[in-house]
Amino acid sequence: MEIPTIRSLALVAHDGKKDQMVDWAKRHVGRLSQLQLFATGTTGGRLVEATGLEITALKSGPLGGDAQIGAMIAEGRLDALVFFIDPLTAMPHDVDVKSLLRLGIHYDTLLATNEATATRLFAGGA
Ligand code: PGA
Repeated sequence: MEIPTIRSLALVAHDGKKDQMVDWAKRHVGRLSQLQLFATGTTGGRLVEATGLEITALKSGPLGGDAQIGAMIAEGRLDALVFFIDPLTAMPHDVDVKSLLRLGIHYDTLLATNEATATRLFAGGA
């Protein structure tokens, strides 16, 4: 199966994972700068501040940002999602997290939920 080229990418990190995503993004800023980027509100703010990348910030995750990204996936407007989920913290918006994952799985979106996989996403020149 051919792996699609990534042109648009959404970035989401739960609070306990935001530092990790900022560090990861700094290491991959060259590749990220070639993509059309979207992020949930707080994640996007942190990333813009740390990297200067051009990112379209959506609503904060718990306030609808996860749902906005899910809608983009359903509409075929997103090639990949890097979603650093915190597996050790209960989320008030767990239903949105599940919904976003469900859509990403259903639409066979490139979907990285941890740093190792996010890094591999770029490794094949995708
Ligand atoms: P945030 O949302 O980037 O606005 O914090 C992420 C999340 O879904 O928790």
